[in-house]
Amino acid sequence: MSLISPELLAIMQCPACHGDLVEDEERKALVCGSCGLAYPVRDGIPVMLVDEAVPPES
Ligand SMILES: [Zn+2]
Repeated sequence: MSLISPELLAIMQCPACHGDLVEDEERKALVCGSCGLAYPVRDGIPVMLVDEAVPPES
């Protein structure tokens, strides 16, 4: 069970750095592999806004 379709995930990029995104099913978020920002997925729709993204835990 994926958060979003693999086809959609494949074409999406991090809006902050254009890095590739990885699904985090536990957090229900798409996490950027480059800058680490986590974009929430709400009702199956990824919220690709830097303002809504959760920064990586330090
Ligand atoms: Zn990024």
